[in-house]
Amino acid sequence: MFEKYVQIIGDSFQGYYNYLISEIFVLSWHNYFWALIVISLFFYSLELIKPWRKGQPRIRQDFWLDGFYMFFNFFIFSLIGFNAASNVFVELFNDFLAIFGITNWVAISVVALPGIVQLLVLFLLRDFIQWNIHRLLHRVPFLWEFHKVHHSVKQMGFAAHLRYHWMENIVYRSIEYIPLGMIGFGIQDFFIVHIFALSIGHFNHSNFKMPLGPLKYFFNNPQMHIWHHSKKLPVKDGGYYLLGMNTLHGGLFHNISWGTNEVFIQSLKNCLNLDLNTKLVKELSDLDRLEDFQHLSIEDRKRYFDMIRVNLYQDYSVENKFIKKGA
Ligand SMILES: [Zn+2]
Ligand SMILES: [Zn+2]
Repeated sequence: MFEKYVQIIGDSFQGYYNYLISEIFVLSWHNYFWALIVISLFFYSLELIKPWRKGQPRIRQDFWLDGFYMFFNFFIFSLIGFNAASNVFVELFNDFLAIFGITNWVAISVVALPGIVQLLVLFLLRDFIQWNIHRLLHRVPFLWEFHKVHHSVKQMGFAAHLRYHWMENIVYRSIEYIPLGMIGFGIQDFFIVHIFALSIGHFNHSNFKMPLGPLKYFFNNPQMHIWHHSKKLPVKDGGYYLLGMNTLHGGLFHNISWGTNEVFIQSLKNCLNLDLNTKLVKELSDLDRLEDFQHLSIEDRKRYFDMIRVNLYQDYSVENKFIKKGA
């Protein structure tokens, strides 16, 4: 029993190694390695030819780091263990089901359906599952620790798509496996679905603006995904505490619902419309209401009270001077 798993691990490494070598050196229409390179070059050319944020450097911050993540998460990670681990997981899962006498756990088989319908089902189902996994990555504190890596991108570009912690591979693949397996799909099936997802992901993160018309309601796009990456707002209540500019842009303050938690988002939107290059700084809490105090550390509370004291004193002395002058 145990040897079976050792055998699977050995075979997986050997199999994946052979696969990787053939991916690099043998060209075919199902080649992920070259597809990744071609798709990346395509979106990079768009960024160079018609950049959305013109102020962003062509070799943006962490460009090469993200290049590394791209190949690591797409190939190397699988090479050094995930492939073996997932084959063992599949075997363990099947053995576990066999205890209960289940040998075929496909609930609704879609394999008999026409190819295009299968493709559509796989695409929609996978998208729905991945959307939910992404939600979990944000909501569960333990998972957010991994997903934080993806949200550490400072300047967005196509390669930021694959900047993520290797644990995300494991989280996604293992959660995906069960529902997809239940309709008879293997995770490695359908090259076209993977490539389509890869292209959409590169597109979402690229520094490129393409008007999609009504299709923007169906497909994720850079103008929408950038909001997802600006989740860390400078002030926790949705406003901002500082705005630094080289030149004044009056347009920044148009159409803002002042006093609401929309102020920051609306201001950022104005920045994007004005094609201004923006950089977000550390998020802080501000003090508008009494309950805001509970977000402050004891140290900060003390500092804040000292500040109020100094301000009151200064106001008092200014007033005094004024009175004296007036008198
Ligand atoms: Zn996210
Ligand atoms: Zn992203």
